[in-house]
Amino acid sequence: MNAGIHRPTIIQVDAQAIRQNIQQERLRMQSGTDLFAVIKANGYGHGLLHVARYALEAGATGFCVAILDEALALREAGFTQPILILGIVAPQYAPLLADQHISVAVGSQQWLEKADEFLQDGQKVRVHLALDTGMGRIGLQEPAELERVEAFLIQHKLQFEFEGIFTHFATADELDQTYFQTQVNRFKAFMAVLKQKPRYVHVANSATSLWHKACGGNMIRFGIALYGMNPSGRVLSAPYPLSPALTLESALVFVKELKKGRSVGYGATYTAENDEWIGTVPIGYADGYPRRLQGFHVLVDGNYCEIVGRICMDQLMIRLPQSYPVGTKVVLVGKSGQNAITMVDVAEAAQTISYEIACGFSSRIPRNYLHDQKA
Ligand SMILES: *Cc1c(COP(=O)(O)O)cnc(C)c1O
Repeated sequence: MNAGIHRPTIIQVDAQAIRQNIQQERLRMQSGTDLFAVIKANGYGHGLLHVARYALEAGATGFCVAILDEALALREAGFTQPILILGIVAPQYAPLLADQHISVAVGSQQWLEKADEFLQDGQKVRVHLALDTGMGRIGLQEPAELERVEAFLIQHKLQFEFEGIFTHFATADELDQTYFQTQVNRFKAFMAVLKQKPRYVHVANSATSLWHKACGGNMIRFGIALYGMNPSGRVLSAPYPLSPALTLESALVFVKELKKGRSVGYGATYTAENDEWIGTVPIGYADGYPRRLQGFHVLVDGNYCEIVGRICMDQLMIRLPQSYPVGTKVVLVGKSGQNAITMVDVAEAAQTISYEIACGFSSRIPRNYLHDQKA
C-alpha cells in the first residue's frame, strides 16, 4: 500500500526506547547468554531494518524472523549477524539458506532428507532443531525422534551444521505455571538423549525470559518486550519498566457542530443527544485501526474523546469536549497531557493482544524514527 506521507497520520518509533528495553534485559541475563532480537512481521510493525539496527546498538547479537524473505531483506541491507528463521522454510530453498548463512528451524528428519536433495557440494545449512514440548506447532514430538535426527545430522555433517536446539512455551505469560512446568520437563527429557549440545540452546521468548529465570539455555529470543509491550497484557508485571517504542498520532481534518438528533457514520449507529462537537480523523481500518474500536477513545489536548459511529476504512469520527481547530493533534496510541493510551489499552478494547495491533498497522501509515543515531 502507498504510504500516506501527505496525511497527518503517523507512527513514531522511538529508537531509544528499543535500546533501553534491550539493555535492561541484558542486565538481567546470565553472562554468556546471547540476545536475538525477534523482528519478524516488519519488526512487529515498527520497521524491520530500523529495529535491527537499534537492537545491535543495544547489544543484540542476532536476529529471529519468521520467513525467508525477512531474512533475505536483512542480508540485502548488509546485516551479517546470525539470523534464525523460526518458521518452516520449503526444503527447496536450502541452497539459498546455505549461501546466505541463514539458520533455519527444522522439525523433522524428512525436511533434512528433502533439503539434502537440493544441496550442492560445499553448501551447508545451519539447523536449529525445534522440539515440540507442548506448543503443538512445529517440532520433534519425542526424544526417540531426536536421537534419530541427531544421528542423521552427524552422518550428514557436510550438508548440515547442527547449530541450535530450541522449544517454545505456550503459557509463559500466565500466572498458572502447571503447563509451563510440563513443557520444561519434556524439554529436559529431550535434552537428556542428546549426545552433544549445539552452539545455541534456547527456550525463552520475552515472557519466559521475564518471568522464568531458571529455565536455562544460552540465547533468548526477545520479541514483544523489546518494543516495550508487556507480553502478558496486564496479568504479570515486568521486572523493570518497559518503554513503549510506538506512538500513533493523527490530526483533526474536519470539525463541526452536530445538532441534537443528527447521526454519524455507516448504519447511523450514533445519534447526538445534544448539540455536539464532532471531529473527523484520517485513519481507519485500512490502516489497521480495528473497526471494532467504535466506542473506544483517542486523546485530544489531554482529553479522552469517544470514537462515535462506525469506524470507516479511512476515517473515524470522535466527540470533542469543545471546538478545536482543524490540524489539532489526535493521539491514538501514546501520551497527551496527563493521560495516555497504551497498546494494551487498544488491544483490550479490540479484544485481542498488543502483538496483533502492532503488526496490523498497515504500510499506509508512515513510520518516523526518533533518537536515530544515523538520521
Ligand atoms: C515470535 C516468537 C518469539 C518472540 O516472542 P515474544 O513473545 O514476542 O517475545 C520467540 N520464539 C518464537 C518461536 C516465536 O515464534
